[in-house]
Amino acid sequence: MKAALLIGLSVLMLIGCGSRVSPDPNALLSVYGLQSTTNGASDTDAAIKLANLLLPKDAPHFQGTWGNTPIAPGIDIPVYLVADRNLTPADLAFVTPACEGIVLQSVPFQAWEASLFDSDGPTVEPLVMTAFVLLHELGHLRRADCGKNLIANQPAELNDQLNADKAQEFAADGVAVVILKAAVKTGSVDSKVAAGRIEMALGTASFYIAGRRIVASPGAAEIGSPLVFWDIGLSHPNFEWRLLKVNDMLNANDTSRRLLADFEGGRLKGEQPLYVAPQAH
Ligand SMILES: [Zn+2]
Repeated sequence: MKAALLIGLSVLMLIGCGSRVSPDPNALLSVYGLQSTTNGASDTDAAIKLANLLLPKDAPHFQGTWGNTPIAPGIDIPVYLVADRNLTPADLAFVTPACEGIVLQSVPFQAWEASLFDSDGPTVEPLVMTAFVLLHELGHLRRADCGKNLIANQPAELNDQLNADKAQEFAADGVAVVILKAAVKTGSVDSKVAAGRIEMALGTASFYIAGRRIVASPGAAEIGSPLVFWDIGLSHPNFEWRLLKVNDMLNANDTSRRLLADFEGGRLKGEQPLYVAPQAH
């Protein structure tokens, strides 16, 4: 009896530990009222391949749930592509509420990537930006910040208040930076090349977005316009600020420092009143 029980337990353990199962993205997604899609699957596959090059061989790797490759629970990090059902357009990328995996809302996510650069702007392959987004979401998973998304989805009053939610976003960006730096330092040649592609894309994006802001709002820096420098909600720091911080953590050169310092100077200026009535004598 005891032996039979032990054999039964062993079989259960073999099934439960590291066995690969056929992907059924809808099984989990339906719990959250979401619906899988294959729209954008090939680009996301390419991004997953790039991001996986940065991860140590023995670490969990990203795995799309739309293909025929089985998912190994606890070994793979499932990436779900979902259609725009029961989500707001701002729910671009997020980790599921119980940290089961990463969800990309296919169409709005592609539109968001396209919006980062104007048609006459620099050419940055969207898949490279997607790879960074995956690393950011992995940061949330590692920190168990379940249910966190990529950008603010609850527009609120403009503010410059730091809080725990915003700190989690910086921390997730920080995890992505640590992975990139480790790949450059100790990774294989493929890993170094992959990290270089992502770092270059982030540098290009931060310079471009900062430059576009300066051209579009030339007076904003003078007064520290909250519209430009503050955060649009209470959950995420200003996206340009995040990019400039990430770029500075990665490159730490004069240009990255100056761009970041200028932006942070703009945030501080916005705290001052635009007009102060003269003192009566
Ligand atoms: Zn996030």
